[in-house]
Amino acid sequence: MEHLINPRVNDIQISGIRKISNLVSTYKDALTLTIGQPDFPTPDHIMKAAHAAIDEQKTTYTPNAGMLELREAAANYVSSKYGLRYRPDTEVIVTVGASEALDITLRTILEEGSEVILPGPIYPGYEPIIRLCGGTPVYVDTRANGFKLTADLLEPHITDRTRCIILCYPSNPTGRVLGEQELADIAKLLENKSIFVISDEIYSELIYDQPHISIAAYPGMREKTIVINGLSKSHAMTGWRIGFTYADESISQHMLKVHQYNVTCASSISQYAALEALTNGVDDALPMKEAYVQRRDYVYDRLTQMGFALEKPEGAFYLFPSIDRFKMSSMEFAMRLLDEQRVAVVPGDAFSSYGEGYIRISYAYGMDVLEKATDRLEKFIKNL
Ligand code: PMP
Repeated sequence: MEHLINPRVNDIQISGIRKISNLVSTYKDALTLTIGQPDFPTPDHIMKAAHAAIDEQKTTYTPNAGMLELREAAANYVSSKYGLRYRPDTEVIVTVGASEALDITLRTILEEGSEVILPGPIYPGYEPIIRLCGGTPVYVDTRANGFKLTADLLEPHITDRTRCIILCYPSNPTGRVLGEQELADIAKLLENKSIFVISDEIYSELIYDQPHISIAAYPGMREKTIVINGLSKSHAMTGWRIGFTYADESISQHMLKVHQYNVTCASSISQYAALEALTNGVDDALPMKEAYVQRRDYVYDRLTQMGFALEKPEGAFYLFPSIDRFKMSSMEFAMRLLDEQRVAVVPGDAFSSYGEGYIRISYAYGMDVLEKATDRLEKFIKNL
């Protein structure tokens, strides 16, 4: 029956991240630097709230958009942290992770032939959804600008078919962040244009040296921006599957229809855990952030000493060094590093063709792992 599989699904490729992680499991002594999730446990007070919700049998469906109390907590959180104002009753949706948030957003706004502009290299989760919606991804090459999108880089890619621009800052895979001026220029460029912006701010709590700024806070942007966030990274809650969308009611009411028929609602137990996270754990990311800064500095210094060219990440937990000088593809580099020194990294081409020539190293690992893995990487490049 395979010939009857939807061709758009048939065409979806297994990601480069998956290829490497599948291979890692065949090596017993491999050190993995591929994973994009915190290595910290979910904070204890959140676990207790979830246990209490189970004991109290809070096991039924919640409203489709999520428990109102949780939406209120989420609205207060983005208001106090990022100055964003959304009505909890009509403008916030609790989703199954940022992943479902992206899915319902793209399915709500795209139609056949819609173009979606993505600054590359970028998280590989967007393109398959865009394609399933009949849209076309249009990548902007941000390499020459340290992986930061600017209005000047963006402008030539805008056509009358552009429906949406996706911003992912702090960036997976580069760790870069857009500054106030860059965001203001992009907002100005879009001022009189009917183009949506999806701002994936899942790493907003993991910014190291500056406050997080959302493009939705700029004049005229609230009406056209869908902000996506979640608890996976900020509260080390990847498995709980809680995300949020924040958008003007005129957009949110349509997204809610897609969400409703997609999943009905997010898990009730996870929602109680999330309520605890966003009321009594608003700064839970701080101690994790301290550890990430130390790790970033360590791995960044080691890579620089080894002669890798790379930008210093300002957020998230990834480094994206260039491997250009080794004259091999990013997949070959990653495969050989795994085979010869038992260290797994993600080949940069997993993040669009503009990621070719780089590898992604996650530092969401303990210092002992990072020390050993960088020692092995050093041996590997010495032998090349
Ligand atoms: N966006 C980005 C940029 C990500 O890196 C990830 C997870 N790796 C997601 C979205 C999905 O997050 P969630 O676990 O909330 O679905």
